Amino acid sequence: MNILFATSEAVPFAKTGGLADVSSSLPRALSQLGHQPVVVMPAYKQALRSGQAIRPVGIDFSIPVWNKTVYGSLLESRLTDSDVPVYLILQDQYYDRDGLYNQNGTDYTDNCERFVFFSRAVLETIRLLSLEIDVLHTNDWQTGLIPAYLEAVYKESPRYKKITSVHTIHNLAYQGVFWHWDMCLTGLDWKYFTYDKMEFFGKLNLLKTGMMFADGLTTVSPRYAQEILSPEYSCGLEGVLRHRRKDLRGILNGVDTDHWNPAADPNLAAVYNTETVFENKPVCKQALQEEMQLPVNAETPLVGIVGRLAFQKGLDLVIDVIPRWVEEHNVQWVILGTGDPKLEQRIEELAASYPQNVAVKLSFSDAVAHRIEAGADMFLMPSRYEPCGLNQMYSLIYGTVPIVRETGGLVDTVVGLNTETFEKGTANGFSFKDADHSGLNWAIEQALICYRETPGIWKQLVKTGMSQDWSWKQSAARYLEFYEELRSR
Ligand code: ADP
Repeated sequence: MNILFATSEAVPFAKTGGLADVSSSLPRALSQLGHQPVVVMPAYKQALRSGQAIRPVGIDFSIPVWNKTVYGSLLESRLTDSDVPVYLILQDQYYDRDGLYNQNGTDYTDNCERFVFFSRAVLETIRLLSLEIDVLHTNDWQTGLIPAYLEAVYKESPRYKKITSVHTIHNLAYQGVFWHWDMCLTGLDWKYFTYDKMEFFGKLNLLKTGMMFADGLTTVSPRYAQEILSPEYSCGLEGVLRHRRKDLRGILNGVDTDHWNPAADPNLAAVYNTETVFENKPVCKQALQEEMQLPVNAETPLVGIVGRLAFQKGLDLVIDVIPRWVEEHNVQWVILGTGDPKLEQRIEELAASYPQNVAVKLSFSDAVAHRIEAGADMFLMPSRYEPCGLNQMYSLIYGTVPIVRETGGLVDTVVGLNTETFEKGTANGFSFKDADHSGLNWAIEQALICYRETPGIWKQLVKTGMSQDWSWKQSAARYLEFYEELRSR
């Protein structure tokens, strides 16, 4: 099958979150299963400086954007260790910027225009490169217009007629909502500006657009697929989701096990597998304590956190409870993240108050993320919602016991320790129900008691997590099944 994967970010070119990981590892997994994916993404400044071999294709094109004609050109590269082509849309006026979607916490004011251009450029790429595409797989609000253009503008032409579109929701909270006049930028007829197509409470909603026009919808875990049908998690789109329920699948993200493999990770002080984890993981812990300038002590429990500092991730709850665990139990904390300036400030203040116990890096560093996954004893994700979450899977693979809130993909991957799950041998972490201080404190306490008092059970949790298969193989096969199902309709 020929699959065009349209995305606003992909590793190793540009990344702000999990979408970039998926955009690289799913196409590679599809290719390994004998299919022919191509990836199309914007040529951001970050991508052009990523050190990847990127060359011009030698094709220029123009796109109508409202009353302007905007020019772009195609660049070409490959996904790491693969033959999967990546086409990057060069348009410096839109993409030669420091951030992907925002700067210093403020969204670019022309985001709608930037992704109108990108969306049409993706469809033009098919024609310009004479691609024969069976499935057009789009992702999140940035590419939500693509299924609409396909249906409303391109379907007439033979090259596009047989294309099946699939739109994946990686995070329903980011919808790409713009004022209604931005409808003019899209060039689409106002007849589509209705509650059952592109309009959302008087505004233009690009995620909803993708959800209404695509032939099939997916989201990134089975649990999140259920959750978003309810008003609590649907961010106002429960009507749309219920309407499209029969076309919606929840497929768990996988892990790029070439990049996240403790047995061959060049970032670590010592590599390890299930046989050597209890000898070599402590070496990684010591190295992490040294790197983060925390007192080196093998016995001190070390909790790691990596991620966007956003309300979604529940970091505000963690900040509130850290003093208790430092003062009463001498727990060490290592936090890597960027995001909400207020949270960043509060975390910095904590680190200043507890220099012996709290170490913080307010930056984006893949290498440090790897060293935290390997060096921490526990990994905390108290998310208010979590479509899939990748870090808990990285933690399991690295023998770092996850402590998670029971939501979304965290439910599908982490089995909390209790008598029943211990007896069944399925427990691989700790989980709690309510995203509040008492839920979080309860789970941290359970984890600490187990870590300090029952090392045999702790080791069992580590081994269970490390021996599970979180690779893309099964998930990629499920995407293929869904593509086939849609194509046969
Ligand atoms: P989300 O997509 O909601 O941000 P995920 O858990 O799905 O969350 O994916 C986040 C990805 O981004 C993971 O690969 C994680 O390691 C990475 N990441 C997030 N923040 C940072 C950071 N500050 N430094 C390095 N990697 C980060």
